[in-house]
Amino acid sequence: MTARKAGVVGWPIHHSRSPLIHRYWLRQLGIDGDYIPIAVPPAKAREFFLTFGKSGYVGGNVTVPHKETAFASVDIAEDAAEALGAVNTIWLEDDGRLAGTNTDAAGFLANLDLAIPGWSEEGQTAIVLGAGGAARAVVWSLLQRAFDSVIIVNRTGERAKSLADRFGNRVRHSDWPSVGDYLGQAQLLVNATSLGMIGQPPLPLDVSALRDDTIVVDLVYAPLRTALLRDAQIRGLRTVDGVGMLLHQAVPGFEKWFGARPEVTTELRELVIADLARPS
Ligand code: NAP
Repeated sequence: MTARKAGVVGWPIHHSRSPLIHRYWLRQLGIDGDYIPIAVPPAKAREFFLTFGKSGYVGGNVTVPHKETAFASVDIAEDAAEALGAVNTIWLEDDGRLAGTNTDAAGFLANLDLAIPGWSEEGQTAIVLGAGGAARAVVWSLLQRAFDSVIIVNRTGERAKSLADRFGNRVRHSDWPSVGDYLGQAQLLVNATSLGMIGQPPLPLDVSALRDDTIVVDLVYAPLRTALLRDAQIRGLRTVDGVGMLLHQAVPGFEKWFGARPEVTTELRELVIADLARPS
């Protein structure tokens, strides 16, 4: 069998940790293949996906800013991609058609399932901070897990409203000044904004108002231990960092392209954390 080749397409792409993750799995599983960063400027993205069958790649990941273009370009979109209007994983079917899905929601859930077994129960309330692509995946995944109520809080109210409207009456929205009204209700709080990331302002949130059983998740992974997670830990709350989702969302793609289900090992996690700590 000839070596299979997959890649990650984005613009810019040099910052992506996906090659590190997939090459680790290729080595670990002894698979003769490669995974390559592919820089495609926005003006060329549509053409790239429409001619993907001739590229020599069996599939790949799609990152910022091409996820919506990929969704609009695939021949087959799985349910998760339809629900989120964005594709982060593509592959060629045997008949040459380009298929796509979105693994962010599955990655978010798989990570929490491993980190805190039994974390979700029917009828719970979650607060999701942010209304961008990551927040959309988180909200959808929580609805799959039968959360009763999801409250979206975002700087731009219009984006929060349109995300809430997309998902029906279990999802509501609020603004930052009112966030304190909800903190005492939630069993889960997820930061899906860029706040707290290196180079961004900190997340303004008073964790003392959270319940004693609230689980705090930060999708930000640089730094790994954000001020939000640190404050929540000091307050005695259970916390989950952003690297796990990054690793788990990569699993389904690898399996599609290379035919073996890879494992998210502690060694891989440490490898990625060390790479994130390296100056870029
Ligand atoms: P995005 O679509 O650009 O959304 C960014 C979100 O952050 C928006 O809700 C935006 O609010 C909010 N925001 C940005 N700057 C802000 C500020 N100064 N004050 C208040 N709110 C601000 O980005 P995304 O793809 O959803 O990613 C969001 C975060 O999740 C990033 O930190 C990203 O690294 C992380 N992420 C992690 C994973 C993982 O695997 N762990 C996966 C995906 C994303 P407005 O709507 O008001 O602009």
